[in-house]
Amino acid sequence: MSMGEFDLIQRYFSTLTPPAKTGVVIGVGDDAAVIDVPHGEQFVMSVDSLHEGVHFPKAVSPEVVAQRSVAANMSDLAAMGAMPRWCLLNLALPEMNEAWLEGFSKQLGNALKYFEVSLVGGDTVKADSLSVALTMTGSVPNGAMLTRSGAQDGDDVYVSGFLGEAGMGLRNYLQAPDPNQRVQQRFLYPVPRIVLGRMLRDIANACIDVSDGFLQDVEHIAKASQCQITIEVNKIHISNAMQALEKDKQTLLEFALNGGDDYELCFTAPSTAEEKIKSLSSALSLPITKIGKVTKNPEQVFGITCLDEHGEMLAFAKKGYQHFTGSE
Ligand code: ADP
Ligand code: MG
Repeated sequence: MSMGEFDLIQRYFSTLTPPAKTGVVIGVGDDAAVIDVPHGEQFVMSVDSLHEGVHFPKAVSPEVVAQRSVAANMSDLAAMGAMPRWCLLNLALPEMNEAWLEGFSKQLGNALKYFEVSLVGGDTVKADSLSVALTMTGSVPNGAMLTRSGAQDGDDVYVSGFLGEAGMGLRNYLQAPDPNQRVQQRFLYPVPRIVLGRMLRDIANACIDVSDGFLQDVEHIAKASQCQITIEVNKIHISNAMQALEKDKQTLLEFALNGGDDYELCFTAPSTAEEKIKSLSSALSLPITKIGKVTKNPEQVFGITCLDEHGEMLAFAKKGYQHFTGSE
């Protein structure tokens, strides 16, 4: 007899993560999960859906779908300074494909276990096309969350990692898939900056994760914090891997400023925090680069200005991804 919904849940998802992780009273198997709220903490929740053909090319492996789903969700929690702890999985499948489920559940389990997150429930349905929605819940000490709206006049603007690698990785993957190419790996297997987000709680005034394109995402900080943000474009670190694959400087910058899927953190912090941020960068073996400045002048429009190495204003069309407008 072919496998049904309940067997599927039982086989692939009911014991995916170890039982009795932080706060789980009831996990997969009952009508709903029950969680103990950690003492002195607040819940932080986020959901992200990945649809075949929209968020990932049809050809990618189930392992890649799982990893990208985990990264997209956890990255939002990282940007809030939260620790991800529990998640719910909504799976829409066009067919019962055991090989796909095997690969997907294995990678999902590995990624969740790595970050000590429990899968506590979900929903499984048949649909015309494949989609995966993961609801990630985490916690943060009362009032300690990071937001987009906290940037202060005079703050420096920092970004982690190497912007643009994932964007270039997607382009290259579509042209010629090569699982050994670093930039493609960065697109296929993104890693959320959970530890950095948590460490920034006491350092950053505002934070966002870079997922749709750097300029578009930083602009959210400017709008939410009602400030101007000036980015010194020449300070943005273009990785050696990118430079080895592309010589045209303008193309490299376009990837860094407008490419999506980086899942790095962009944050603002007072200038007094610079030494702390340098130590954090070496402790995490992760580049954290100072690339801009926050100013607050209520007379001016809230938004982003890009400057070149001579301090001249650069016109960069902001082209991050937006659904419905179809802009990319
Ligand atoms: P109900 O009909 O009461 O909504 P379901 O039959 O949909 O319950 O689900 C049974 C149990 O399996 C629930 O605990 C639910 O959270 C869990 N579950 C269903 N699908 C998934 C999934 N894809 N991943 C993890 N848990 C799931
Ligand atoms: Mg029920």
